[in-house]
Amino acid sequence: MKPYFYSADEYFKETFGKKMFRLSLDGGMTCPNRDGTTGTGGCAFCSASGSGDFAQKHTGSLAEQIEAAKAQVKNKLPKNGAPFGYLAYFQSFTNTYAPVDYLERIFTETLMHPDIEGLFIGTRPDCLPAPVLELLGRLALLKPVYVELGLQTAKESSAAYFNRGYSNDVFAAAVTALSGQHIPVIVHCILGLPYETLEDMQNTIDYICTFPVHGIKLQLLHILKGTRFAAEYDTLCHDNAFYCMDRQTYLDTVMHLLTRIPSHIVIYRLTGDGPKKLLIAPLWSTDKKRVQNDLRNALKERTIIQGGNLPPCNLNR
Ligand code: SF4
Repeated sequence: MKPYFYSADEYFKETFGKKMFRLSLDGGMTCPNRDGTTGTGGCAFCSASGSGDFAQKHTGSLAEQIEAAKAQVKNKLPKNGAPFGYLAYFQSFTNTYAPVDYLERIFTETLMHPDIEGLFIGTRPDCLPAPVLELLGRLALLKPVYVELGLQTAKESSAAYFNRGYSNDVFAAAVTALSGQHIPVIVHCILGLPYETLEDMQNTIDYICTFPVHGIKLQLLHILKGTRFAAEYDTLCHDNAFYCMDRQTYLDTVMHLLTRIPSHIVIYRLTGDGPKKLLIAPLWSTDKKRVQNDLRNALKERTIIQGGNLPPCNLNR
């Protein structure tokens, strides 16, 4: 029986002994899927900020960014004197896509900051050459280091459609190599990609869970202004290739997928909120509080039984 899912909050409390806040920093990097190295135009859903619309803008000083990011989360800090800590999070673009000397400098400086107790690095699996892996292994001796990989889907035709720019084999090799350095891996998965069915999403979750991953982030597909999906949105909807999930369908889908995730895997995200000024669809997702409450209530109402009967879901296209 799995009464609930393993949340990041719970994991942080077990690991760091307190509530942890992730501070979004900008390492000033770009992405090989944009600059022509592996592709141009980037992933079809990715905004101009490289999927870091809430991250700090690059100022050249990590210490300044840390202070600015701390100010950003100030209102969320516990008010009852409960202990808390900070983790650095390099989220925008591809944060291992730079010379290894540069990476060593910025990551070491960040980890040595007295307020920072660990490091999260978002990157692509095809941007982890041996010297970078070796560096991550050394950094992890200083403080905990986690790597986030944007797989999004295990369906190769979907990945090709949104221009991911690498095959599942590359992902598999990266997870194995990171595990060899004892780096916990968190995998991003987008729900509701064009041409994907519920079965495809299940297959993605099942595929991810065949690897020794530490965590999973579930994210609803957002159609953001300026992206290729935004340009194709009307046509895809018209062709019935694109099913923009409503709130209830998303809740059902998430509840359904949670049943397939082993209880030791940490769920870092159940949804996401696109930046309001860029969001085209689905607009209901801007009400993050309501989505979170609905998810919380749905989780309370249902007992999740691993591998058991699945709740009904109307996404069986
Ligand atoms: S790899 Fe990441 S940063 Fe690069 S285009 Fe895709 S989502 Fe954006």
